[in-house]
Amino acid sequence: MTDAIDATETPTPRRKPKQPKTMIGGREMKPATQMMGYGFDPALSEGSLKAPIFLTSTFAFENAAAGKRHFEGITGQRPGGAEGLVYSRFNGPNQEILEDRLAIWDGAEDALTFSSGMTAICILMLASVGQGDVIVHSGPLYAASEGFVAKVLAKFGVTYVDFPAGASREELDEVLKRAKAQANAGGGKVAMIYLESPANPTNALVDIEAVKDARDAILGGAQAAGGSAQESDCPIAIDNTFLGPLWQRPLDHGADIVVYSLTKYVGGHSDLVAGSIAGAKKWMDPVRALRNTMGGIVDPNTAWMLLRSLETVELRMQRAGENAAKVCAFLKAHPKVEGLGYLGFIDDPRQQDIYDRHCKGAGSTFSVFIKGGEAESFRFLDNLTIAKLAVSLGGTETLASHPAAMTHLSVPQERKDALGITDNLVRISIGIEDADDLIADFEQALEHV
Ligand SMILES: *Cc1c(COP(=O)(O)O)cnc(C)c1O
Repeated sequence: MTDAIDATETPTPRRKPKQPKTMIGGREMKPATQMMGYGFDPALSEGSLKAPIFLTSTFAFENAAAGKRHFEGITGQRPGGAEGLVYSRFNGPNQEILEDRLAIWDGAEDALTFSSGMTAICILMLASVGQGDVIVHSGPLYAASEGFVAKVLAKFGVTYVDFPAGASREELDEVLKRAKAQANAGGGKVAMIYLESPANPTNALVDIEAVKDARDAILGGAQAAGGSAQESDCPIAIDNTFLGPLWQRPLDHGADIVVYSLTKYVGGHSDLVAGSIAGAKKWMDPVRALRNTMGGIVDPNTAWMLLRSLETVELRMQRAGENAAKVCAFLKAHPKVEGLGYLGFIDDPRQQDIYDRHCKGAGSTFSVFIKGGEAESFRFLDNLTIAKLAVSLGGTETLASHPAAMTHLSVPQERKDALGITDNLVRISIGIEDADDLIADFEQALEHV
């Protein structure tokens, strides 16, 4: 057995160019440029300019030794992950190209894709926690994320501590001390700090830099004996669906893992459901291993659609952001509008400071408070002609919904009050239509109020 074939001599042919060209004029190409070609070599696919959709459940090994080597990578017996494709529950060409390109936007070492944003969030959390552990999270979270922590992980002895988005460094220190005590009492550790910023539907921002400083001060170094003195074993994950990848890059501000519902801005056409996470390999590897076991990877068709979407994500988000700024300027001055929850018009100095440090744009999803209550808000919604009445966000088309009566209907009244989810709150996601047409639509709908 000593002279077994060296599989490294006969690598599985891959669609990946060996040395992807990412430099131009002595500097790295911008993400918008890299979206057209990164990670795909047409010469490996009959010259096809666009990646074909690889509809296959399994991949042929060129010899037995290569198969063994690939399985060593998949099962983690050899570090560095799989060098070749094995089976479509683990990965596939379309998914790999997509993951490579997603990682570029956030400046991440690695990325993983999933069949939905919630699949990404659930597998990430499941891979990170053990019995007795504590998850610290900002509030409010997307309702299904909050439910997964409070109801599902609770069944396995995992508890949580939450804090309001916007908490100060001092408050965060207190929250983490409380979480650490709770973890010690349960015989576990603080396994993850999970953020969502801006929060839905309040648009409250979390100070990622303050969270990192508090984490390093309170949970830095070894929670468990033997951990390194510098690096905490408690990652900071953040759901960046509302502002990413264009308007906020959380890894630059101290987050370790960035989470997306790709269903929203990244997919951007309201025609698919998918999710992703990105970050350093050391955080991705345990999640990849659990995804290999459970499944939940995005399918090849959807991955291909997302590659299409990534080519225009910057264009679409820029246009939607410009449209939202114009629409909000109009709404702000309208006598039938009581107020706006829009990141372009922040009135709290602490929130403005976080915005200035973390955000590159105000986004295109915001809340408008109509003068009156549910009846007035419904009249406004029912008279919109361009904007469609639907939940979700980040698509090419403008959508409007009523959180108190729809997405947050099951939230108890006390919590609705605390979160500011009132009966006159209308949620709007601005698309890429003509801004003047959108303003005319909102104007005529407000006349009916
Ligand atoms: C939509 C959404 C999710 C869930 O994503 P799905 O793709 O619908 O599973 C998670 N977080 C935020 C902020 C979202 O808007």
